[in-house]
Amino acid sequence: MADYLTYEDLKKYIAESNRAYDAQLIDKAYNLANAAHDGQMRRSGEPYITHPVSVAALLIDLGMDTESIIAALLHDVVEDTHVPLEEIKQEFGADVAALVDGVTKLTKITFSSVEEQQAENLRKMLLAMSHDVRVMLIKLCDRLHNMRTGDAWPEQKRRDKALETMEVYAPIAHRLGISGIKEELEDRSLRYLDPIGYEEITSLLSHNGGAQKFVGNIAALIGERLEENNIHGAQMSSRVKSVYGIYRKMYMQNKSFEEIYDIYAVRIILDNVAECYNALGVIHDMYHPIPSRFKDYISTPKPNMYQSLHTTVLGHEGIPFEVQIRTWEMHQTAEYGVAAHWKYKAGISSSDRLEERLAWVRQLLESQRESEDAEDLLRNIKSELLPDEVFVFTPKGDVINLPAGATVIDFAYAIHSAVGNRMTGAKVNSRIVPIDHKVQTGEIIEVITGPVNKGPSRDWLKIVTTSEAKNKIRAWFKKERKEENIAEGRAALEKELRRNLVSIPEKQYEAFMEDMAKRQRLNSAEEMYAALGYGGLQMSKLMLKIKEEYAKLIRTQDPTETFEIPIKKQKSSDGVIIEGLDNCLVKFSKCCNPLPGDEIIGFITRGFGVSIHKCDCVNVRAAENSPRWVKARWADTVQENFKSTLEIVALDRQALFADVSTALATMRVPILSLMGRQTTDGRATLSITVSVANIDHLSNVITKLKKIKDVISISRS
Ligand code: MN
Repeated sequence: MADYLTYEDLKKYIAESNRAYDAQLIDKAYNLANAAHDGQMRRSGEPYITHPVSVAALLIDLGMDTESIIAALLHDVVEDTHVPLEEIKQEFGADVAALVDGVTKLTKITFSSVEEQQAENLRKMLLAMSHDVRVMLIKLCDRLHNMRTGDAWPEQKRRDKALETMEVYAPIAHRLGISGIKEELEDRSLRYLDPIGYEEITSLLSHNGGAQKFVGNIAALIGERLEENNIHGAQMSSRVKSVYGIYRKMYMQNKSFEEIYDIYAVRIILDNVAECYNALGVIHDMYHPIPSRFKDYISTPKPNMYQSLHTTVLGHEGIPFEVQIRTWEMHQTAEYGVAAHWKYKAGISSSDRLEERLAWVRQLLESQRESEDAEDLLRNIKSELLPDEVFVFTPKGDVINLPAGATVIDFAYAIHSAVGNRMTGAKVNSRIVPIDHKVQTGEIIEVITGPVNKGPSRDWLKIVTTSEAKNKIRAWFKKERKEENIAEGRAALEKELRRNLVSIPEKQYEAFMEDMAKRQRLNSAEEMYAALGYGGLQMSKLMLKIKEEYAKLIRTQDPTETFEIPIKKQKSSDGVIIEGLDNCLVKFSKCCNPLPGDEIIGFITRGFGVSIHKCDCVNVRAAENSPRWVKARWADTVQENFKSTLEIVALDRQALFADVSTALATMRVPILSLMGRQTTDGRATLSITVSVANIDHLSNVITKLKKIKDVISISRS
């Protein structure tokens, strides 16, 4: 194929391919591209349109479909001309537009030099970005054509492109199993990266009496012998190992040119597997095989699906060469890899194409299961083709690999804990995003930082998804905010104790917590609070232990005290007017908890002022005749809240306490104490003291509580 093709050449290629292409649509794409690139020149002086046309021809060679050819023709149109992607979508459909968009995005990513790990990430990222593997095939052909015509580039650009091709694109071509493109990309890169080494090897090859001629003669000889042995219709070909393949063995494995046994290879393509093994026998009869150089990739395919029989024999001139024997089907897979799928599978309608593609991935996964590196490959393909990883960039172009679902905060901490700790916001592709933005493959992320001592927010712990970020945030709180952590942890624990109705008697509280801390292998209760504060100790785990110990503790206690939650004493109220007594000390009786609105009466106690009861309180009736009773009534303005105790009878079930306390919390009614006990008939009685404003307020509360599931009755005590 010439370096620069005209559209006439391309049409010839299409006709010779013997495949059904939509010529009209391809014409239309060419006309659009030709008009759009009109007046643009390549550095070599050729009209620009020769580049997309040549790329399209390479794709025809790979057997790609009409959509791929159209996308190849249009691949530089959006990037380099005024034609918007929207127009391509309107004219050629969403699939073609997606292909063009994918190639445009890949093209924007350029690397002059990448480290090993970075290169691997980048390869994975590029594959992940091209959800449609056709995008990658177009990109590979684009790169191949650029490398073929790279002599027009200035020296530095040649080296940059060559390095990137060697580190990124050739390995992708290899992984996709397209050996032809892989080898050419490598050889052309080597020619720019080490011109002297490249020259040395090509001269060694030509020195050997014309490498192609030498190995061609052998191929002809073998072909004749196969016919004599009744193996008919063999397609013979010969090849010389790629320059880079030899280079690697010479410079990386330190072998001399003569020690490389597979520089020359004869390839035999046959109709079926049985003939392959027969041919192997014939070869070993003709030439002396070199021991341990026989490999049966038919019974054990290579991870990239490659199948063949390989043997190395010593030629009559004393020069070793490799013989590769395979069937046509194996040959197609070896040459075109992923692309063989399009080349040899005609008539896939565009609606099932997606399903078909997925099926292909699945098939590939299946077929790899038996091969030696199966697990590795499985992992690789999964991470490359399934979206459980994302790859994003720093503004400098470093690739950061994160699990899918990671946020910009995870990104910041992946760069460095100092970056995360100072983060105040983030920009994605130059736009400010919310702090919980989930990053997508290909995004360029810039972390906005504040002052050094800024520190993360505790809320971030709920946003981040990577354990790395979580650990780094916790580490910061642990170190920087000891006092705050202690207070925070203590408050959180107290709240949790109340929520779980764990009421440790005040006298035992400190000792209990010190003991709990020791059980958590912490030095003190304070350390335990601190750990709760920065998140190093999980509240739910600690609560489990606390409840266990608490259960042991209460077994030794008076059962009536167990659920009493210590509360601040309600102040005596001025809201009551006692007949004949001014400014006396007033308190409300615990037996009936009178509320504003209730009929009340006072009882003069010894030394404790007047105790107020409801008129219908049992204690009032019991001491009816006492001279100490005084008339009392509510003042007109009552501002304080009052205690009231309710008896709730319900079917006993697990979350009953929680439901009641949640309902009260929702109404903003403080719970002053709560006692519960099980009755023998499967019921539970809750005695609950709440703080309410007046009797209307209380009846509202009762109405709401009655709506709780399994509540049977509620009465005031
Ligand atoms: Mn291009």
